[in-house]
Amino acid sequence: MRLRLTLLLASTSLAAAPALAQVPPGEPPITAQTKISGGVRPPEQAGLRLEHVDLTLAIDPAKQSIQGSATLTLATANPIDRLLLDLADTFTISGVTIDGKPLAQGSWSNPDGRLTIRLPHTYPAGSTVTARIDYGGTPHVAVRAPWDDGFVWSKTPSGAPWIATTSEGYGCDLYWPCLDFPEGEPRLVDLRVTVPEGLTVVAGGVLVDTDTLADGRTTWHWRQKSPNPYSVALSIGPYARLEGTYASRYGNKIPMYLWYLPKKKAQAQGLFAEFAPTLDFFETLIGPYPFGDEKMGVVETPHMGMEHQTANAYGNDYAKAPEGFDWLFQHEFSHEWFGNQLTAANWDDYWLHEGYGEYMQPLYGRWREGEARYAVMMEELRRRIQNRAPIVSGKVRTEEEVYEDSQGGAGQDIYYKGAWVLHTLRNLIGDKAFFDVTRRIVYGRPDPRPGNFAPRFGSTKEFIQIVRDVTGADYQWFFDVYLYSAALPELIETRDGDTLALEWKTPVGQPFPLPVEVSVDGAVTRLPMTGGRGSITVPAGAHVVIDPMARILRRSIALEQAQAWRAAHPGRQ
Ligand SMILES: [Zn+2]
Repeated sequence: MRLRLTLLLASTSLAAAPALAQVPPGEPPITAQTKISGGVRPPEQAGLRLEHVDLTLAIDPAKQSIQGSATLTLATANPIDRLLLDLADTFTISGVTIDGKPLAQGSWSNPDGRLTIRLPHTYPAGSTVTARIDYGGTPHVAVRAPWDDGFVWSKTPSGAPWIATTSEGYGCDLYWPCLDFPEGEPRLVDLRVTVPEGLTVVAGGVLVDTDTLADGRTTWHWRQKSPNPYSVALSIGPYARLEGTYASRYGNKIPMYLWYLPKKKAQAQGLFAEFAPTLDFFETLIGPYPFGDEKMGVVETPHMGMEHQTANAYGNDYAKAPEGFDWLFQHEFSHEWFGNQLTAANWDDYWLHEGYGEYMQPLYGRWREGEARYAVMMEELRRRIQNRAPIVSGKVRTEEEVYEDSQGGAGQDIYYKGAWVLHTLRNLIGDKAFFDVTRRIVYGRPDPRPGNFAPRFGSTKEFIQIVRDVTGADYQWFFDVYLYSAALPELIETRDGDTLALEWKTPVGQPFPLPVEVSVDGAVTRLPMTGGRGSITVPAGAHVVIDPMARILRRSIALEQAQAWRAAHPGRQ
């Protein structure tokens, strides 16, 4: 999730879409350090692994403040004499203990949100350090979540507190001391959140217990395995709940929950009815739901949505669509496979999350209604491809360097172009190979079953290697153009008598042997395009259509002209 709202706005104005990437007016100040998520990290931080987080939070909706205590158990790959963590400087730190011993004031500092704790001695490589940080204050507020991040202090229509957090863009350090990069993923999180009477806290993982305090407040204890740092998230409200059990084709039983606002039961039941068929689609096409031993969870939020692992944020207002399913729910749920089970270690490779995540909606349309629905949905995405920057830069990048056009990122192309690259690849190597590749990158093995895999990190390089392994052929030429170049390949057509010659023109100087289908008076021939060239005999007067099934992502001058015209005529269709 991130720039997906552009799809909704696109029907009124394509030109308006990039404005969403800007920091919205009215957003509270935030330091550059806190705003960064991922990117190149200091070596001593990159060598840390978060084994366990015990995070206790008391939420005060009236004051819009939090009181927290985080106990982090960290493994060190390098010798360290100081601990580098990330925590927004909006909080006051009242105490720090290391391995149970309180540190003297002055042993830590938090300039701009880079929390540096001087350790009492050097910890050798391969050791474990446990740090407890007590903190509190007013967390950063999101004014247009999820396009900016922080706490959303909202109210239900009846006036009850309705609270959510998002942190995909700026990172986990907005409200807890953490390692704010993808590999900062904790192995285990115990989250204990105390809220006023009558409110429910929904979070990832399994609900261990609830405890009512003497003053009527309730503490909700959730335990979760291996969430992305930005998936340590809260949804709080006076929720009602729907629940059921999904009998997986893999033999396990998956608990399903939908937390919704009271008075929306009928709409919530409609969405809940989509859960089982959507699970069946993903489990059949991709593989086992990765978190079946915890839950499948969706929670209604005041913001549009986010892929919080096993507690997906949903704020699409139960909108109905011609495709017959809720794209927002389906998109966020796809991230359980592409984002939460498979996580890109570097934000530069996040097209693996968003490209695959986006492609799952047309594939679900195809699953439900066939090729015509698929084609219509793919065409929607095709119109939004911008080709301003390559999807993959080959560098270690921060979240915003990827998602924001203004920072040179591919922006929404990681969604729409990513989906079209996958579409083109599927047509090139065939469904069997494509889904074998997909399973291997998602699970790290070809034969996933519940219990034989765990959340993993992947990369574009690994993906390309898997395509090679599965197909037995080298497709680097394909990825060099589609992922590592901004411009699309262009098919040049020339006629010489009865011969139609086709030649690929690409932004890189190497052959591009991407086969092309040509229909001549209704008879379709697949030209192998060896060396990037091909030709076919076309009798005089014959009717010719190139790539009649739109299997290939390639330059379209008509589309470029239409995009330019729309940009010059804002508000026109
Ligand atoms: Zn997404």
